[in-house]
Amino acid sequence: MKLVSTLALAATLALSPAAAQQKSANPAQADAFVAQAEATLARESVDAARMAWVQATNITDDTDILAAKSDARINALQVQYGLEAARFARVPGLSPDTKRKLDLMRGGITLPAPTRAGASDELSTLTTKMSSAYGKGRGTRDGKPINGSDIEAAMGEVRDPAKLQEMWTSWHDNVGAPMRADYAKMVGLANEGSRELGYADTGAMWRSGYDMTPEQFAATTDKIWGEVEPLYKALHTYVRWKLNEKYGDAVQSKTGPIRADLLGNMWAQEWGNIYDVVAPAGSGDLGYDVGDLLKAKGYDPVRMVRQGETFYSSLGFAPLPETFWQRSQIVKPADREVICHASAWDIDNRDDIRIKMCTKVNGDDFVTIHHELGHNYYQRAYKDQPHLYKSGANDGFHEAIGDTVALSMTPDYLIQIGLLDRTKVPSADKDTGLLLRQAMDKVAFLPFGLLIDKWRWGVFSGQVKPGGYQAAWDALRLQYQGVKPPVARDETRFDPGAKYHVPASTPYARYFLARVLQFQFYKAACKQAGWTGPLHRCSFYGNKQVGARLNAMLAMGQSKPWPDALQAFTGERTMSGAALIEYFAPLKTWLNQQNRGKPQGW
Ligand SMILES: [Zn+2]
Repeated sequence: MKLVSTLALAATLALSPAAAQQKSANPAQADAFVAQAEATLARESVDAARMAWVQATNITDDTDILAAKSDARINALQVQYGLEAARFARVPGLSPDTKRKLDLMRGGITLPAPTRAGASDELSTLTTKMSSAYGKGRGTRDGKPINGSDIEAAMGEVRDPAKLQEMWTSWHDNVGAPMRADYAKMVGLANEGSRELGYADTGAMWRSGYDMTPEQFAATTDKIWGEVEPLYKALHTYVRWKLNEKYGDAVQSKTGPIRADLLGNMWAQEWGNIYDVVAPAGSGDLGYDVGDLLKAKGYDPVRMVRQGETFYSSLGFAPLPETFWQRSQIVKPADREVICHASAWDIDNRDDIRIKMCTKVNGDDFVTIHHELGHNYYQRAYKDQPHLYKSGANDGFHEAIGDTVALSMTPDYLIQIGLLDRTKVPSADKDTGLLLRQAMDKVAFLPFGLLIDKWRWGVFSGQVKPGGYQAAWDALRLQYQGVKPPVARDETRFDPGAKYHVPASTPYARYFLARVLQFQFYKAACKQAGWTGPLHRCSFYGNKQVGARLNAMLAMGQSKPWPDALQAFTGERTMSGAALIEYFAPLKTWLNQQNRGKPQGW
């Protein structure tokens, strides 16, 4: 957590009384400002991270208030530094490092508060309230209350459309709708703060964090979407057909969008949970389910995390510190409210790394563990960088590392770790099934990963007005995902609020980038490992050369523009969907055959 806090605020305000001072500032003064700010941020971030941890793992009225206060002070400090950084950035003759750090200080605030009195308190109170409401949110199942983590799991298991509709609707109504007004207020405040820092709006500020202009970044995401869209559409056509076969015309028609609650996930963002519904006879039968294997071998959540650690150790990374095991939240505490949404933490910016999960023994959570540990190993790899560089090359990199590792969880890997019996390895004629299972999660996610921030960019720019929040959301869901809600929505609803990252204000483009980057990284790792078979059967488990080269990229942190980091590991300098397309090429051919003569698109 690169947060900052509290006491330094007074000192900072005293340090920078006049903008006029910086007009005539020289590079040496800019260097001194950066050194002072960086030292303060490094020092103050630790307590702030502790406060955030305590609130996330024990939600009460008191921890909400304390977290909001801590957050408000940090935000004010970051904005203050950001404003100073913007002025110093105009000084001629700056060193490249100082220029980079000034840009990071100005642009690295997710929701900047305006500097006027009381504004940072107001903003933090709103964001803490929304996050906390999400954490405590309940839907209903058969009329009875059910918490977020349980309802999420149930959406993957239940196959009765009426029950799915009840869970979907109750969750979106109970959790999303009540935060609608607060969300609009938050947008106004964050925009005001972003403008003070010189950005058109908060969305433009978010898009500025990629070593290119906001416009270039938006164009980059559109370019990548263009590369992968035909594959998504082929998958959509096939899955809609299968859902129609299972549920009939009254539930899922042969044409038009897919009903969002039928896809095995509350947000229709990943569809792997309904693989059984779409699996083709014969080649679709993989003969095993990772969750079942874990249960059969008596795995508990802690052992699942230990197994995740083993993968990273096999690449040559040092074991997790003892404090990780003492301080992480691996299972949901029975006696208090917590934020179950999985996350990885770096409390002291050195070695106090942790995960926070409400782990269940199933295949999804086994993958999530590898994902979260990817963050922790990244954090530890760049711990010797200066504080402002302790971050991913861009935020998509940070999200991609653990997923790259999880792509290596092939059947052969599962044998190596004793989970799968050698006689149960799916033969080559099951490749379609293996790829389809992967595509249900990885490819299905792509339009969702893109549209969350398409919606927020529109909201922050004012193109989407508060009176049209829901309609704009539904329109993007339809346009990109080709899904529709099971019941009609209107502007008393606020479905975006029922997705964690919206109330938590976590930017989302990073997840879209991570989906393509992880295949780019994976392909590079397999090439380094000398793999010559089909890409999706490659595992680089145990390959220390791959580990060393991966570590070299991770250890760079954010010290250089991301193309330099990408090149260090892959030899390439642009983010691209090409590796993902190559991975799924045999599936695309198969889908095209299956879809022949069927209605396509929506
Ligand atoms: Zn993550």
